[in-house]
This record gives sequence, C-alpha cells and structure tokens, in this order.
Amino acid sequence: MAGGAVTRFAPSPTGPLHLGHAFSALIALERARGGTFLLRIEDIDRARCRSDHEAAIYDDLRWLGLSWPEPVLRQSERLNFYAEALENLNEIGVTYPCRCSRADIRSALSAPQEGAPATGPDGPVYPGTCRGCGLPSDGAAIRLDMRRALALVGPPEFEETGPDHMGPQIKYAQYLIENVGDIVLARRDIGTSYHLAVVVDDAAQGITEVVRGLDLFEATMIHVLLQRLLGLPVPAYHHHRLIRDAEGRRLAKRDDARALAKYRAEGATPQDIRRMIGF
Ligand code: GLU
Repeated sequence: MAGGAVTRFAPSPTGPLHLGHAFSALIALERARGGTFLLRIEDIDRARCRSDHEAAIYDDLRWLGLSWPEPVLRQSERLNFYAEALENLNEIGVTYPCRCSRADIRSALSAPQEGAPATGPDGPVYPGTCRGCGLPSDGAAIRLDMRRALALVGPPEFEETGPDHMGPQIKYAQYLIENVGDIVLARRDIGTSYHLAVVVDDAAQGITEVVRGLDLFEATMIHVLLQRLLGLPVPAYHHHRLIRDAEGRRLAKRDDARALAKYRAEGATPQDIRRMIGF
C-alpha cells in the first residue's frame, strides 16, 4: 500500500503479554510498512483490567523495541463514543433490549425441543427469547438482531491480506446466523462490548489494516457487519497463525509460563524472543 498502512496492536490489560502477543505486535509493526503503528489499550471491562498489567504492556513492548505515537488511546475514556454508535444502531432498528441472565439462556437452550445448542465464538448462540418483546432498554443488555442486520447491509465482505483465513467455503452470512447469532452490543454493566468499541475505535484511529490472530476471524465478520451498519470504512484484515505451546495448545493470558516478563527475567533478549516466534 503506497504511503504505508495504519495498523494497531490492541491488548487488554487483563494479564501479562506472552509470546503470542509479541508475534501479533511485531506483525502489526511490519505491516505498517513505514506508515503508522498504533497502540490501543482495550480496557472497557474495568473488573478484569488492572493498571499494573497496563504498565507492564508498555514496558514489555518498549523492551521488544516497539514505539508508537502518544497519547495512547484507552477505551475506558471513550464510552460516550460507543454510546453514540449504539444509538445509531438503535435508530436503524437492528437492536433489541435483552433481560435474559446466563442461567435463562442456558435453560432455554437445554429445553428438549431445541436440539443441540449451537455454540459460537461468543458462547452459546442466543435463542432470541427477548427479540420482538419490546422491553424497556434501561438496565438491559442490548443485542444485535443478526438477521435484520444482514438483511439491511448484506454479508460482510473484506480484503484479507493475511495467510490464514477460514477458507473460501465459509459463507459469512450463514455462519453469522448459525454460529454467532444475536450478540450483545452493550453489556448491562458497562454499556458497550468489545465488538462495538473496536469498530468505533478502528474508524476513529483511521486503521487501514487490522492485524489479529486467526482466533478472531469470527469477530472480524461481526466487525465488518457493524462497520457497514454504521457507515464506517472497512479496513483490510490480516489474520495470522497462533503461537502454540509444545503440546499444540494456543497460548492464553493465564499461561504465565510464556509471559514475556518471565523470559526477560530469565535473561532472554528481544532477539531471543523474535527467534522463538520465528520472526
Ligand atoms: N483486545 C483484544 C485482545 O486482547 C484484541 C484486539 C483486536 O484485534 O480486536 O484479544
């Protein structure tokens, strides 16, 4: 892309960064190709995010040799923008309030006539109990009416620049209906969701290429759909492979054994880290 891309690394400060994060951040830097690499702190879930983890993110990334323009965008400071986007979605009629608890959803899904519940990347596919009920929205979660959304803007389409995807056989619209369903756009406790916040911020920061792991491919379908609904530009997406441990399991934040801080404490250099992730 002439003039370089605008890419970002967007960790949530819920635990230490591990090798998989280093891999993702370094690809995002590389994909900027002389453009701009941004850091964004995804901290909407105040109950799970911690300032010491945030400080450790800056520290680890600087140690790895990364730099980014300041100030860093922190999602916890942007809740009003997410509320505005939600309002826009409400106005075009693709949302509805939902008062179901997790237990309600579990019991609706285990009703014998329902068959085996589909479980997608966002958990069990919501059975639609509150859809069409016209419940008051205060104190409720707000869900996306997936069928309506797809009927309005069509299946999400985007440019894939990465080596990994779910394959051309995946029919995005069908996948979203069967495996994703009516996702929560605004949780009742925080008034927004990962999906909504990411879409608003990728547009606000002028991101032209989103670099993320293949585990977020389904999220990408949701995000492109939301971009279309909100009239936002659709960036290119670069999905990369996941770094796995010796047993083939993908790394998670809870795997402190793979934390960058642990390797640092043991004397590893940034070059060692790059070698370990094949960079
Ligand atoms: N904040 C998300 C995470 O830490 C990913 C960001 C994204 O690519 O949307 O997994």
